[in-house]
Amino acid sequence: MGGNELKYIHEAFEANWVAPLGPNVNAFEQDLEQFLGGEVKVAALSAGTAALHLALIECGVGHGDEVICQSMTFSASANPIVYQGATPVFVDSEPDTWNICPVALREAIEDRIAKGKKPKAIVAVHLYGMPFNVEEVLGIAKEFDIPLIEDAAEALGSTYKGKACGTFGRFGVLSFNGNKIITTSGGGALVCHTQEDKDKAVFLSTQARDNAPHYQHSHIGYNYRMSNICAGIGRGQMEVLKDRVVARRAMHDFYKELFAGVQGVRVFSEPDEKYFANHWLSAIVIEPEEAGFTREELRLALLEENIESRPLWKPMHLQPIFADAPYYGGKVAEDLFDKGLCLPSGSNLTDEDRARIKATIMRLVTAKQR
Ligand SMILES: *Cc1c(COP(=O)(O)O)cnc(C)c1O
Repeated sequence: MGGNELKYIHEAFEANWVAPLGPNVNAFEQDLEQFLGGEVKVAALSAGTAALHLALIECGVGHGDEVICQSMTFSASANPIVYQGATPVFVDSEPDTWNICPVALREAIEDRIAKGKKPKAIVAVHLYGMPFNVEEVLGIAKEFDIPLIEDAAEALGSTYKGKACGTFGRFGVLSFNGNKIITTSGGGALVCHTQEDKDKAVFLSTQARDNAPHYQHSHIGYNYRMSNICAGIGRGQMEVLKDRVVARRAMHDFYKELFAGVQGVRVFSEPDEKYFANHWLSAIVIEPEEAGFTREELRLALLEENIESRPLWKPMHLQPIFADAPYYGGKVAEDLFDKGLCLPSGSNLTDEDRARIKATIMRLVTAKQR
């Protein structure tokens, strides 16, 4: 926590605004709108997954439709497609950004159209806070007139050409889950470009009550609005967001330096100056033949010292639940899953922690690269 979270929670208690609406919700939305550049409308919700679900609904995704989705991601990017009775069509990653490959994306769209069904939306993800190739992906979405849903759940504080991630698509999705760069314990937001789109999200997220003195419903609603207590945490967190980005990026620099002289290990970094990642997680790819060790050997060496690391997201097209879903591309995502590792990246790591991480990694490297 940053420090002022309890102050905002106390305000909510004193005013008795303990509900899924109230001054903290409004103020948190304003803070986010300002942070994202001031040209968007934000609806604070109970989760990033809820935001993705509402984005799909607002894009008109329904039963029997197809939605393109980046395969290399967390399952929450894809699950809401299935909530809507639609089918996900998974697309491979490109090696530079680890995100949706523009070539495979185009191939997927053209082939689905040829097969008789134009995709209803595209879900692209800024994985680990690394922006996807916004220029090309957005270009393809516009060319085929398919709405782009930008899953920026991991990318609050990242920019592409100086513009905030989450603001490029028809909708942007943010998450404030406990593991994200800032948290409201659990929460998310839908980034919209019109007041109308935001109003619709708020309407759907508060049980879709029509404007009447009694309870009148013409739509299926959801209980997806953010609580005024959680939003109080969010307001406090917004005050430290910039520091958190600095701290996460410093962890990335730490690993860049650590692995600089190590053969066969590549630290996941921005391809060029158009990209600015929050480096929510620092990750590496290990080529076992060059490095002399596998990602699993490094993971276990760290675990032995009680240091947690994790393989990258397992691509969705390799998940048992999505075994029947169409897939376009090659083996980029699969290869990343085989060789990639997320390293300790928290903004609260101490110099002592870093020294311990470094010593453990260098012990393995020295043993294998003599
Ligand atoms: C965390 C996450 C989500 C879901 O957000 P929640 O707030 O946990 O529902 C969606 N997509 C990605 C890429 C995520 O990392």
